[in-house]
Amino acid sequence: MEPLYIGVDLGGTKIYTAIANERGEILNEEVVPTEASKGPEQIIEKMISSIKKVSTGINLDRIKAIGIGSPGPLDVKNGLIVSPPNLPIRNFNVVEAIKNEFQIPTFLDNDANAATLGEYIFGAGKGCENMVYITASTGVGGGAILNGKLYRGSTSNALEVGHSTVDRNGRACGCGNRGCVESMSSGIYIEKMARDSVSSGMETTLSKYETVTAKEVFTEATNGDAVANQILSETLSYLGIAVANCANIFDPDKIVIGGGVTNGGPIVFEKINEEMNARCLAPIRENCKIEKAQLGGKAGVVGAIALALVEYQALN
Ligand SMILES: [Zn+2]
Repeated sequence: MEPLYIGVDLGGTKIYTAIANERGEILNEEVVPTEASKGPEQIIEKMISSIKKVSTGINLDRIKAIGIGSPGPLDVKNGLIVSPPNLPIRNFNVVEAIKNEFQIPTFLDNDANAATLGEYIFGAGKGCENMVYITASTGVGGGAILNGKLYRGSTSNALEVGHSTVDRNGRACGCGNRGCVESMSSGIYIEKMARDSVSSGMETTLSKYETVTAKEVFTEATNGDAVANQILSETLSYLGIAVANCANIFDPDKIVIGGGVTNGGPIVFEKINEEMNARCLAPIRENCKIEKAQLGGKAGVVGAIALALVEYQALN
C-alpha cells in the first residue's frame, strides 16, 4: 500500500488539514476555523479531530508521519509552539500532544519553512539544488533550501526576510526596527499608503471605494491610475531589493515568490526583475530564475505534508 502523510496548517484564522500520497496528491482535506480566542485546548482538540476526519477509513499503518506548520516563534527541536502573536498558545508541546494521540511520528516547523519545503518538493522549486522562497502578503517571510536541504539556522529562525532592512530611515515595523522590507512592501502597507493618499485628497480613482485594500490598488493600477501605480512602484521596488539581496547572498538556482501580492498582475514581477537586473552581480543574475509559487492557497498544508515526508525519509 502506498504510504501516506498528513499535513496540518495551523493558522490564526483557520486550521487546514489534509492527507496525501508521496506525490502530494491530496486524498481528503478539512478546513475548520481556529477560533483562537477560545484557547489552546480547543485548538489541539480541533487538530486531533481533523486528523481523524481526513484519515477516516484509512489504515493508520499507512500513515507514515504528520507534519505541522505553525506561526513562530517555535522551538522546533523540542516540538514547542512558543509565543505566536496571533495564537493564544504559549510554550505548548504540540508534537507530544499529537504523537500521544496517534502514535505516528510528528514534526513541527514554522509556516514559512513548511511552505518552502512544499514548493521545493511539489511546486515551482522541484529539481533545484539551491532555492529561496519568499512570501509577501500581509507580512513578508521566507525560507531557503541549500544543497538540497532546508536551512533552518542556529535558532530555526533563518530567512526572516521580512525583517531585513531596505531603508535605514524607513517606516516603523511591528518588530521594533525601522525600514524592514515587511514595513515597506507588505499588503498592509500598500493598503495604508492607499488610504493616506485618499484621505489627503489626492486625485485618484481609489477614492471611489468605501474600503481600499491592496487588491483595489492593484486593480486601479492596472486601470491606469497614477497614484495606485506610484504606490505599487515604490512598495514593489522594496520587495525587489529584498529579492535581489537574497540572490546576492545565496546565489540560488531559483527564487520562488508566493503570497497574495503575487496576484497583483504583471507589475509585480516587472518590478522584482527590474531590481534584480539593477542590483545582482552578473553571474548570479544570469543563473537565477524568478518564478511565481505554484501551491497558492494550499502552500501551508502541502508544505506541512512535505515536512512530514522529508523528515520521515530523513529518519528511515
Ligand atoms: Zn521588522
